[in-house]
Amino acid sequence: MNADEERSSRLRELGLTPTIQRLAVLEYLDNTDEHPTADKVYTAIRERFPTISRATVYNTLALLTKSEAIVRLTIDPAASRYDAADSPHAHFFCRICRNVYDIDLPQGSPSLSVADGHKIKAVQTYAYGICAACLKRHKEEKDA
Ligand SMILES: [Zn+2]
Ligand SMILES: [Zn+2]
Repeated sequence: MNADEERSSRLRELGLTPTIQRLAVLEYLDNTDEHPTADKVYTAIRERFPTISRATVYNTLALLTKSEAIVRLTIDPAASRYDAADSPHAHFFCRICRNVYDIDLPQGSPSLSVADGHKIKAVQTYAYGICAACLKRHKEEKDA
């Protein structure tokens, strides 16, 4: 199965028809680690489908999120960010450049499976601070 077929069957398993727009959004999120905003997804998809409307992209994101085909992150206070629903990982938000990074946080994804009788399926961990690139830039400015 190639990547396109794999995405189509992923959507079918979630009960969704694999339309061109849905596949395009999924493909874009599968291949970026930028955790884009809806606006950014729209800009990227429009490059390939110049006639697609902003509303279509926003509706597609909402539907894919609801079906758990993708993950909506609320880490950025200014805008929702989107991620492929791949292996669970923690996220880091840089308060200076506003980039969202995937991070390995061993205690970030607790191996809890049940808490107070609830069955846990997913845990979102958000960390905030200054990213490595901004720290380096700050240091260089200070040293200059
Ligand atoms: Zn930064
Ligand atoms: Zn991520």
